[in-house]
Amino acid sequence: SEELLIRSEKMSVAGQLAAGVAHEIRNPLTSLKGFIQLLQAGVEQKEQFYQIMIDEIEKIDTISSELLFIGKPITDKRELEKLSKMINEIVTLLNTQAKRYHITITTSVPKNISLLCDRTQIKQVLINLVKNAIEAMPNGGNISIDATTNEDWCYVSIIDQGTGIPEYLIHKINEPFFTTKPDGTGLGLMISNKIIENHQGKLSIESTELEGSTFTIQLPCFNNQKKVSDSQAY
Ligand code: ADP
Ligand code: MG
Repeated sequence: SEELLIRSEKMSVAGQLAAGVAHEIRNPLTSLKGFIQLLQAGVEQKEQFYQIMIDEIEKIDTISSELLFIGKPITDKRELEKLSKMINEIVTLLNTQAKRYHITITTSVPKNISLLCDRTQIKQVLINLVKNAIEAMPNGGNISIDATTNEDWCYVSIIDQGTGIPEYLIHKINEPFFTTKPDGTGLGLMISNKIIENHQGKLSIESTELEGSTFTIQLPCFNNQKKVSDSQAY
């Protein structure tokens, strides 16, 4: 039946994810084991191994902390939050990293937009997208975060002047563990999509190779959410 089909698709996504996690964690573990064996054998110049071992442990740590988001069911702690405040907070957080790459972040966010949301999770999405934008601009430039709203929806666009995404890769970037970065996890977009879906929203992508990308988050704004719950009351 249709329901069964949907369920089996979900299973295969979970299965795919589990297999991916096992693979991604096994690589750094294998490497750690190798270095411990070298140390056990009493090699010279131990110091050079320590940093590699710490890096491998950090890889496992990053993967597990990103995975903690996936296990969460539909968001629970929803409160009315000002969009401009959440955006200002994440910009403050990422500005140091941006400056290091000669990147400026500008924002244009109407003060009156509020969302009924889990602020930690929505901020996580914004961080994931702005981080990707920074990582796509090794030679600097501007990232612009623009928000607009109509009666029902609010739209937040993160616009970068980075490398862009080649057309043949566009359909792959949401897949778990797909990454083009040497130390990427490939989990950021998958988690962002899940969080946005849990908030009844949508994440869309426009990208031109060598010119840049625009990621747009569409979320129900507070007025719309009120209307939905009003109508459900009848
Ligand atoms: P990660 O950042 O760990 O690679 P993500 O899920 O965040 O994982 O992104 C997956 C891939 O999508 C990236 O490796 C990159 O190839 C591509 N990508 C995402 N955002 C951008 C962007 N703003 N510009 C160019 N490529 C991007
Ligand atoms: Mg990322």
